[in-house]
Amino acid sequence: MLPLDDKTIRGAFINASRKELSDLSLPDLDAVDWDALDYLGWRDRRIARRAYVVIPTDDGPVGILLRQAEASYRTRAQCALCQDVTLPNEVVFYSAKRPGPAGRNGDTVGTLICADFQCSANVRKPPPPAYLGFDIEAARQERMASLRTRIANLARSLVEG
Ligand SMILES: [Zn+2]
Repeated sequence: MLPLDDKTIRGAFINASRKELSDLSLPDLDAVDWDALDYLGWRDRRIARRAYVVIPTDDGPVGILLRQAEASYRTRAQCALCQDVTLPNEVVFYSAKRPGPAGRNGDTVGTLICADFQCSANVRKPPPPAYLGFDIEAARQERMASLRTRIANLARSLVEG
């Protein structure tokens, strides 16, 4: 994805209150390897179980504030975004408030996502060859494209309801 600055990221959130935005702590943006990411995701350093994703879309970046469900929900299930067959990491149930009045009334969207948003790294790993002559690079590109489609759909589903 293209690099984003502090101001763009803060301005991209569609489901965060003014208070939540002022509390938000950003990752070290200079240390982010943007070329290796299909979306930016991080956990808040100071606020327990709060996390964020910023998704590039045709209409610009869309930021989503997420809440992690109680620790007991932590599971070895599939991530809804990268759908890697052998995930090296845990998957967590995150929920996102819908933007506007719906979200204020408690309407949320929940999804299982890699605990520390490792999806971009997971889809970049070469998949095991499925058969003789299997095109690993093509399969890798396909998985990256499919991750981008799923994250764009997540952003859309939240906005459109
Ligand atoms: Zn994932």
